[in-house]
Amino acid sequence: MDLDFDRQHIWHPYSSISQPSPIFPVEKASGVHIHLSTGQVLVDGMSSWWCALHGYNHPVLNQAIIDQAQNMSHIMFGGLTHEPAIELCKKLVALTPEPLQKVFLVDSGSVAVEVAMKMALQYWHSQQKTEKQRFLSLRNGYHGDTFAAMSVCDPVTGMHHLFNDVLMPQHFTEAPQCGFDEKWNDAYIEDLQQQLEQHHHVLAAVILEPIVQGAGGMRFYSARYLQEVRKLCDHYGLLLIADEIATGFGRTGKLFACEHANISPDILCLGKSITGGMMTLAATLCTNHVSETICQGEAGVLMHGPTFMGNPLACAVANASIDLLLNSPWQARVKQIEQQLQQELSPLAAHDAVQEVRCLGAIGVVEMKEAVDMKIIQPLFVEHGIWVRPFGRLIYLMPAFIAEAQHITTLTQGVTNVIQHLYSSASD
Ligand SMILES: *Cc1c(COP(=O)(O)O)cnc(C)c1O
Repeated sequence: MDLDFDRQHIWHPYSSISQPSPIFPVEKASGVHIHLSTGQVLVDGMSSWWCALHGYNHPVLNQAIIDQAQNMSHIMFGGLTHEPAIELCKKLVALTPEPLQKVFLVDSGSVAVEVAMKMALQYWHSQQKTEKQRFLSLRNGYHGDTFAAMSVCDPVTGMHHLFNDVLMPQHFTEAPQCGFDEKWNDAYIEDLQQQLEQHHHVLAAVILEPIVQGAGGMRFYSARYLQEVRKLCDHYGLLLIADEIATGFGRTGKLFACEHANISPDILCLGKSITGGMMTLAATLCTNHVSETICQGEAGVLMHGPTFMGNPLACAVANASIDLLLNSPWQARVKQIEQQLQQELSPLAAHDAVQEVRCLGAIGVVEMKEAVDMKIIQPLFVEHGIWVRPFGRLIYLMPAFIAEAQHITTLTQGVTNVIQHLYSSASD
């Protein structure tokens, strides 16, 4: 593989071309294994950023793509429709909370968030409430890399403060302070309540990641907080946008994280694992009330329509992935993974360099006291035979649901060894 060309010409996510970080050439991937072209085989702890629920190179998912490709890989969605899209939207409407009835298919998570925000703006515009153009978001949130999505990311941890001057100014409330299993106290919702009291007349919606804040901090919070947010949105007549792009399709132990709190948002974003990591696809769902209000407005239509909207290949493999998930004992597997991650990672909590260990569903997080040095730690993980990609102070695992006990142990042991190796030599 021409790694020199890669270094000199190709941007990777959040990368420098002049001072490139180590990059590892992949030959192929299969099940929970990533095969590097060096011959090394790594156990994957990332599911390619929450996506590859069923592992790589799954024969059923491969076949779904082959079958669909032989029929029609793509067709424009303007004025035309097709079976894979209809089947997928039927599934999404059936699986998500009952009030969510309308589906807008898009090509990536960030765009799903853009569409959600656009829906909220059009909803108020239709009612001549044009002053309601701001969003209230949570600190430590992450909603994507496009401009509207960036504006609701945490201004500091969201990696986007460089753009602060050009981003739409939004309102922020403190990150939820009540841990997932912690006892509730009304003080935990005070800041949000005050923000809404003060700003609701200019707010279109509250946007949040339910239960798990992902790329903005890997934090887990109480279902009660979500219930209180829902109540406050109802009280102030605000829309609630739930960004389940990372949490959707079982990752937190429920099919959708909103189910932990038994609430339904007005607008829901899905993405990442929707195709089992096979193709890029995302979706924004909304209630009949939201869709009807939008369509009664001046525009009369939802003002969005990507070229690759409803791509048949992506829809077909999403259908296969969702069937595969629902026909598997995924709840039991996620529970098992959670218990094993908890058991095998928790000893690290006693380590001097570790701030906290926390696990929920198929997510295990080791929060360090200080940011890790990626250029050092990434090759160490590879040396230890695992693929783990930390950010900031966070080393985390989110394996495929098909990972077996031995694979989880390889991952937790690898993380433990790397942390011990790195920090024992430093402190001695
Ligand atoms: C990854 C992510 C996004 C952005 O999705 P992309 O497909 O990377 O554009 C948005 N929201 C959340 C919660 C995410 O985890």
